Amino acid sequence: MQLACNSIRQTHYNVLNVKEDATQEEIRACYKSALLISHPDKQHKTSQTTNSESRFLEIQSAWEILGNVESRAVYDMELRVSRQDESVVADEIELEDLMVETGDDVVELFYQCRCGDYFSLDSFELEEMGFELLMEGDKVSLQANGAADMASVVLPCGSCSLKIRLRISKDKGV
Ligand SMILES: [Zn+2]
Repeated sequence: MQLACNSIRQTHYNVLNVKEDATQEEIRACYKSALLISHPDKQHKTSQTTNSESRFLEIQSAWEILGNVESRAVYDMELRVSRQDESVVADEIELEDLMVETGDDVVELFYQCRCGDYFSLDSFELEEMGFELLMEGDKVSLQANGAADMASVVLPCGSCSLKIRLRISKDKGV
């Protein structure tokens, strides 16, 4: 799977050659053995010195993140998000592409997934993300409330693992 390998950038886990579900002890052990192999002091001064120094720095920065439970958790989350962004977002749509269903006090937005189910989002969820959904007749628009500087929202499908990205153009606000 040459292609797949090339498209995934090197993670801190790859650098330390450790599994992503490894325990802290396993990570520490892998860090130490990676360090032993790559430490500049252990290398002969050859043309490879620069390489082994940058490898040493990679290992150090990987350990700084993964060696600490809290920073590792943050890194894991970023990793998950970046993978979702790369692989699972099936399509990008605009607000106008969505179907609108108005309930008593909530407005639901739908978009059909290729699996047959729907991506959906409601006005409460949008509010939590900092957007206000405005209705004018059957026309909807989004207004960003102060803090929201996101230009897109990712919607999950109700059935499969696909997601779509709803692009929000700020100049379309009311
Ligand atoms: Zn689906």
